Amino acid sequence: IVEASNIVKHYGDLAVLHDVSLRVTEGSVTTIIGASGSGKSTLLRCMNLLERPNRGELSIADEHLRFDRDSRGGLIGLDRRQIQRLRSKVTMVFQQFNLWPHLTVLGNVTEAPMRVKGKSRREATRIAEHYLERVGMLERADSYPAFLSGGQQQRVAIARALAMEPRVLLFDEPTSALDPERVSEVLSVIRSLADEGRTMLMVTHEMAFAREVSDQIVFLDEGRVGVAGSPAEVFEQTRHERCRRFIAPAA
Ligand code: ATP
Ligand code: MG
Repeated sequence: IVEASNIVKHYGDLAVLHDVSLRVTEGSVTTIIGASGSGKSTLLRCMNLLERPNRGELSIADEHLRFDRDSRGGLIGLDRRQIQRLRSKVTMVFQQFNLWPHLTVLGNVTEAPMRVKGKSRREATRIAEHYLERVGMLERADSYPAFLSGGQQQRVAIARALAMEPRVLLFDEPTSALDPERVSEVLSVIRSLADEGRTMLMVTHEMAFAREVSDQIVFLDEGRVGVAGSPAEVFEQTRHERCRRFIAPAA
């Protein structure tokens, strides 16, 4: 369902991703691991075009995009409608939740389906209630984010991502900003999404969790795919020296 080929991303002179290729099959969970600064967030952000790759190809759920700087330095072959379509098929959950503080929980979850997908308020509310129930936050539908714990805010953010009914869900360190006692409530929501066969791509430092829920682990090493394989292959059998050292504390 996701096929990224030879993705290259620079920030000015800094090359962050060099030729990254990655495949994710429908219904599977892929976790990207790697040292700080190895390009994990950048790669995830390229998947829904929060960052534009400089080069490469991306196919996600029937959207095919090719990136190539044209002679004027702009991007060719990308129109706004296509970007919009991709963003409604691939939604992201952030480390810092990024809820809109001036909207209630319900308002946060109905906003994008109404604005981006043109749903009526009634339909968007029905969808939002369904997913808020799914993450155990329906009782707090009228609260504002500031009155919720980090774990509750993150569950609302997951409901918001689900309300777009995406084909692929992205998670960038969804539990890194949480108090330790709040981590498990968010992991258990993510685990249940994995169990129901959602296609997910995540970045996490929760190695035991990654090993348990993932079908594929990708070790990113200075902007290159160092190793990609099943959890057993990556955690137990890899000969890639830096990958072994990276996971050693968890093993
Ligand atoms: P972490 O584990 O710390 O979250 P990461 O693997 O997610 O790290 P990225 O955030 O993808 O790493 O960053 C990769 C590199 O790109 C880093 O050197 C970072 O400083 C740089 N970088 C990221 N975003 C930008 C930006 N908007 N402008 C310039 N440089 C950036
Ligand atoms: Mg990051």
